[in-house]
Amino acid sequence: MKLKFTSYLANRKNGYFSYLAEIIALFAIYFSTAKLGLSLDAVSRFATLIWLPVGFAIAALLLFGYRLWPGIIVGAFLVNLLHGAPLFVALGIGIGNTLEALVCTYLLKRNGFSYSLDHLRDVLLLVLLAMPLSAITGATIGVSSLFLGKVIASSSYYLTWEAWWTGDMISILILTPFLLTWSKWPRGKTSIKRSAEIGILTLLVLAVGLIVFLGLFHADERRYPITYLVFPPLIWASWRFGQRGATAAMFAFSILASVGTIQALASFPPGRLSMSLLLLQSFMGIMAVTSLILAAVMAERRELEQRKDEFISMVSHELKTPLTTIQGYTELLHARFAQQGNQEALLSISKMATQIAKLSKLIADLLDISKIQAGRLAFAKEPVDIDLLVREVVEDLQHTTSQHQISIEGIEQRKIVGDRERLGQVLINLITNAMKFSPRAERIAVHLSHTHDTLTVSVQDFGIGIPKAHQQMIFERFYRVYSDQDRTYPGLGIGLYIAHQIIERHGGKMWVESVEGQGSTFSFSLPLAGEA
Ligand code: ADP
Repeated sequence: MKLKFTSYLANRKNGYFSYLAEIIALFAIYFSTAKLGLSLDAVSRFATLIWLPVGFAIAALLLFGYRLWPGIIVGAFLVNLLHGAPLFVALGIGIGNTLEALVCTYLLKRNGFSYSLDHLRDVLLLVLLAMPLSAITGATIGVSSLFLGKVIASSSYYLTWEAWWTGDMISILILTPFLLTWSKWPRGKTSIKRSAEIGILTLLVLAVGLIVFLGLFHADERRYPITYLVFPPLIWASWRFGQRGATAAMFAFSILASVGTIQALASFPPGRLSMSLLLLQSFMGIMAVTSLILAAVMAERRELEQRKDEFISMVSHELKTPLTTIQGYTELLHARFAQQGNQEALLSISKMATQIAKLSKLIADLLDISKIQAGRLAFAKEPVDIDLLVREVVEDLQHTTSQHQISIEGIEQRKIVGDRERLGQVLINLITNAMKFSPRAERIAVHLSHTHDTLTVSVQDFGIGIPKAHQQMIFERFYRVYSDQDRTYPGLGIGLYIAHQIIERHGGKMWVESVEGQGSTFSFSLPLAGEA
């Protein structure tokens, strides 16, 4: 049904009949929800703390345009008239309620409000400007009409106004954001893991809501302050599912709270319920604002992360092309100078080539990062002889250092299934790190061992080591250990992240054991062929 609504919004025609149908629909929703609200122990008969119509009205004006205002004025006028308001009072309330929705819509539209509420700015715009001003408009015109029509005395003006304002505020803070964020159905498939999470969260929201709100108004006054229980599921929903999660959880809580209220009507003497309700609704308002802000901050963070990933991907692609050209010309020059026997130039060219190789490695790592983020890192599946691979990598790297002696301990003669090149990349990363971070040591040891179903490779160095607090974090993207006393080591903090991802994608594990000042041992284990 929601999908149909989304496509209706997109393909809506501006015909006269659809205009009329929209007005009638808004009128029907306004009238029926207003009737429900007025039946719930309204203060001075007309100011109710559960006032859904304004939330619907504002969402409707935002989504369908100002032109639906007649639906509001007719709905508000009729419902109040039928509830016993004198004609001019009902008309005053009708005008006030319509202006309220128009003011809110105007302030939001004028300031570039986004319906997804994905930025803190949108939430603050709603909470600090549009909501207060429009609720003040509605409450002031409505309650003044009651006062001028002699329905209420001046002594009850403030109490009535307070209830009116609170009811409207809740509706604008809970219902409107819910309708706006869900007016577009989420696109894309939901993974099984995420669906399971949604399921558990929904159950939790319902369970907590039932405990908190349906037990809240028990007549025996045995009310424990358990309302705070709503925060964990609410924070979970905002954190993991953004504004849609936050508004849906809040909406579910407010429905349960309203059901609890209706249930309690029987056991509360008239007038008593509205006091409890006022406290409850203020609490709901604070909860709604908190979750809207949290979800917006999380959404902004996600957006920044995404932009950063896009930037890295773009930069690495842009850098790759000129570098390949430079590499080509360097090789050409090398060949020319070799022909001419120009040793001096050859030396410079080989220095250039070393730096170009470093740059290429950096760019390749950055490209890998963006591929991992986009889930596009491809892996071959072939039998890999780990002994041979370790020997080849160690031999290659031994040529690059005169300081370190790299030894291999243990021969396994076992195969695993995976991507030879990627696993080689992991080994190169661990051994070059071992060299880089043990500037005063002379030895690096590569150990091979196995259990009945896994094969483990460890790279041990006797260098600076890693403080305990950092050991879990070094596998995260861009994480580097900084220390004041030590010299700084070049790097971007991405090698271990890529290595960790590669090993995980092979169904393996990677870990580190390290003592600061004594050295580190980085290990990874992989399932043996036939066990994967
Ligand atoms: P990079 O070395 O390019 O900064 P890595 O992801 O390979 O990035 O490593 C992340 C961080 O982990 C390094 O900055 C360093 O602080 C720490 N680290 C990695 N390997 C070692 C090691 N063998 N000894 C000590 N610290 C290490």
